[in-house]
Amino acid sequence: MTTVTKAAPAACLIGWPAAHSRSPLIHHYWLRTLGIAGGYVIEAVPPDDLRDFVLRLSLRGFVGANVTIPHKEDVLALSTPDPRAKAVGAANTLWFADGELHSTNTDVEGFINNLDASAPGWDAAEEALVLGAGGASRAVVFGLRERGVRRIHLANRTLGRAQTLAQQFGPNVHPIGWDALDEVLPRAKLLVNTTSLGMHGQPGLEVDVARLPQSAVVSDLVYVPLITPLLAAAQARGLKTADGLGMLLHQAVRGFELWFGQRPRVTAELRALIEADLTKS
Ligand code: NAP
Repeated sequence: MTTVTKAAPAACLIGWPAAHSRSPLIHHYWLRTLGIAGGYVIEAVPPDDLRDFVLRLSLRGFVGANVTIPHKEDVLALSTPDPRAKAVGAANTLWFADGELHSTNTDVEGFINNLDASAPGWDAAEEALVLGAGGASRAVVFGLRERGVRRIHLANRTLGRAQTLAQQFGPNVHPIGWDALDEVLPRAKLLVNTTSLGMHGQPGLEVDVARLPQSAVVSDLVYVPLITPLLAAAQARGLKTADGLGMLLHQAVRGFELWFGQRPRVTAELRALIEADLTKS
């Protein structure tokens, strides 16, 4: 583990194992282009060491951190979570304010801000269909409710998981079985895939985009491949799309701003940099 001793502020990504992550590339790009002297490193922290590491985050010289698998839930008890982190049940960003360690979940705004950037006007959708009921789905459903989507159909292979999520998020969220998809698709002005289906090495996602309304927007959280078969089918039909890489970039903005004091922009140049890294591996 690193102890950062330089005067320049530094943040880190806490995970176990310390998986290959694009976060250092993203934050180093912003530090460089904004001319900020700062750092961002990956820290491999086993579960047994998480408490000690987080409680000594500042002593180690860090101004904050991103948190990834398997620690996103456990850091809630080690910090003061905001309403988003509480509702999603997981945090991915830590920062200090007024001497306290705070946490939030920036997947919510990553998803919503990417939709705003990629498909302006998407929020005219009164009905949305969300596929999947895992961790990412919770952030998506929270964001859609916050933006006032009236009816959110939530389909999941394991129906019980969708039902649990619907109970938590209230009457706008309607759990449905996978077999009801064809019936709901014609009413869905927004379709969001939050499952891992369609990801490189995973089974394909069988959804008939021809059943969606002509004005529908399609979003996929999967970003390997960059253009998933779902997004390709939607684009071939002329539908607007929002991809997983866009969400990944937008979710990083708030952490950077909280740690380094300037709000960075998601630019075409940054996107090209990460695309190049994703396609080389
Ligand atoms: P998770 O909590 O493990 O949830 C996985 C979801 O996929 C569950 O709904 C699961 O259904 C479903 N699923 C998995 N295999 C399936 C199969 N063979 N058939 C049908 N459904 C299946 O994972 P997560 O954290 O929510 O992440 C989900 C995806 O979102 C991943 O691809 C992740 O990379 C992506 N993601 C992207 C971003 C971004 O910034 N772009 C951010 C977060 C996540 P069951 O409940 O039935 O198991």
